[in-house]
Amino acid sequence: MIKYFIYCRKSSEEEERQIISIEAQLTELRDFAKNQGLFVVKEYTESRTAKDPGRPVFTQMLEEIEKGTAQGILAWNPDRLARNSIDGGRVIYLVDTGKIQSLKFPTHWFEPTPQGKFMLSVAFSQAKYYTDNLRENILRGIRQKIRRGELSAKAPLGYFNEPRLRTIEPDKRTFGKIKECLVAFASGQYTLTAIQRKMFSLGLVGKDGKPLHLSSIKHVLTNPFYYGDFKYRGEVHQGSHKPMISKKLFDEIQAALVQNGKPRKKRGPKNFQYLGLATCGECGYAITAERKIKKSGRIYHYYHCTFKSKAVVCSQNRFLREEELTKQVVENVQKVSLPDEWRKRYLEKLDRETGEARHSSDLFAQNLRGKIAELKLKIDRLTDGYLAGSFELAEYQEKKNTLMSEKKTFEDQLSNFERKGNYWLELMRNWIMEANQAQNLVKQENLPKMRDFLVAIGSNRRLASGTLSVDFQKPFSFLAETRERTRSVRDNFSVNSLWWT
Ligand SMILES: [Zn+2]
Repeated sequence: MIKYFIYCRKSSEEEERQIISIEAQLTELRDFAKNQGLFVVKEYTESRTAKDPGRPVFTQMLEEIEKGTAQGILAWNPDRLARNSIDGGRVIYLVDTGKIQSLKFPTHWFEPTPQGKFMLSVAFSQAKYYTDNLRENILRGIRQKIRRGELSAKAPLGYFNEPRLRTIEPDKRTFGKIKECLVAFASGQYTLTAIQRKMFSLGLVGKDGKPLHLSSIKHVLTNPFYYGDFKYRGEVHQGSHKPMISKKLFDEIQAALVQNGKPRKKRGPKNFQYLGLATCGECGYAITAERKIKKSGRIYHYYHCTFKSKAVVCSQNRFLREEELTKQVVENVQKVSLPDEWRKRYLEKLDRETGEARHSSDLFAQNLRGKIAELKLKIDRLTDGYLAGSFELAEYQEKKNTLMSEKKTFEDQLSNFERKGNYWLELMRNWIMEANQAQNLVKQENLPKMRDFLVAIGSNRRLASGTLSVDFQKPFSFLAETRERTRSVRDNFSVNSLWWT
């Protein structure tokens, strides 16, 4: 007499909701066994998917069959036993070798004859086809969405999921506020907790009404979604939603984040206004400040090396008085400031050049378009390479993300350029205004602004032997050199033309 195992399975996955429950399967199968006079020795139940091989209970049951504990299986349908080629093959092999003499299904006929085995393998293939198809359909759906630039996920802060169109749209209530915070953070003036407070004060709160977690804020700050791309499974794709910020601002935010991660520079008491302005010109360590009260009761501030270096013995023992440093700050700002008269002449000249520059600006845009096309091609080739198996997924994604980021930078430059007309002339105009503004700072004796100005346009700011030196960025450096060379020249016009060249 053939002994039977009952095997019932239902996975919790959505696709199988139409399958009756394990309890219902059991009841039906027990009735079926009774009606057919089958001798059941054990019942196995399992709530696992059969898409992948390696179900523990199923494996255990087959091991028992190998040992000869039973020779038949009773299940609701062949697809309960297998939905992948390995498990299906194992069952058919056991039938071929005679270990399984009978398979019974209320929904399916089977006999261990050639036709029966053929029908069974068809049933297993059908079950496999069903899962393959399902998997393919889901993937196809996701791929299509990605191709259309739609993210199939929860909208990030500042956006909402449009339920009917299934798109992600700006959320009027929060879009502007998030943008404000991103712009603020990009300035580098905020720590994560400061931006958290700012968000809270703007009413950007978590579900519990409390301030957003720092981790969610960090997520906002690093999410490419805000500049128009989006990340799906670690891979950056081009989005179709409305961007909140430019790629340039996003890059500034990333730089600010890196800066944030470094140990905080102490901005001492407010009245040491030049802390952080320069480092020691000899040993490279920070400059510190101290307060001294003279017998007369007057307070003086002195700046000097921190002497933190253990490797070098720093000989910079001069303590520089704040008044002297101020004088040098003013001198340095003056070096790169543009007098009103020069400003006027430069702007006039710039206007004349604008016409002539049309031609070269076309070349500039063409060049950018070329670079973008090149990157697109690279991404396509990379994808081909990945699909052909030349890369691991992680390597592919990392490479692709870098290329996507570069592409976005150029695309932003191009659209900026197209919007503003001539990018370089615009930069030039900005620079003229900025350099002229420096002149006003000197006139107004606005020391904090002058300090910030030097920090913004000068690098390698150092203090040695009581002298502050700064390397100015282009084109401020030209201005500083020209002024140096023409110190003795009275004629403004010749200075002007000298510089212009
Ligand atoms: Zn030093």
